[in-house]
Amino acid sequence: MTTLPEIAAAFSSAKAAIDIVKGMISLKSQVEVQSKAAELLTIIIDLKSQMQAAQVAHAALEDRCRQLEREARERQRWDQDKTNYLLHRLTAGGVVFRFKAPAGDPRPQHDLCVLCAEKDVRSVLQPSDPVGWTKTLKCHACGSVVMDERIEQPFSVGAHRRDGWEPFT
Ligand SMILES: [Zn+2]
Repeated sequence: MTTLPEIAAAFSSAKAAIDIVKGMISLKSQVEVQSKAAELLTIIIDLKSQMQAAQVAHAALEDRCRQLEREARERQRWDQDKTNYLLHRLTAGGVVFRFKAPAGDPRPQHDLCVLCAEKDVRSVLQPSDPVGWTKTLKCHACGSVVMDERIEQPFSVGAHRRDGWEPFT
């Protein structure tokens, strides 16, 4: 087990203070006592600031510990949830992890980014701008764009005129 440097410094100051007090017992003159008392006061002031630094370092470690516990819980939940997704090829060729809702699961239908899921990042794909005549889905975590499905074009028949196409009526 490693000791925080702030705690090690506090132990060192406390030992110095104890040594000074032990030495003061054998002092004979008032001047010697006052000199050692001043030295002791300096060490106690240092000790107080070292203990405050240790308290701050301890609070930071507690925050980090809570963050790691939260990440571990999220990872565990994601590991369990992975079984609810299956690889699925969209009609325009993109591949996603498609949600297969278990009975009673209120979550709406959605797809996950395959690249992110393989890195244990759960990123729901969102509709994005079409590319040509193909709808796309975008991952806002990694920026991937997935080809979703062709946009149906209304069938039109027209005659070409000098100023453009004129539909038959
Ligand atoms: Zn992604």
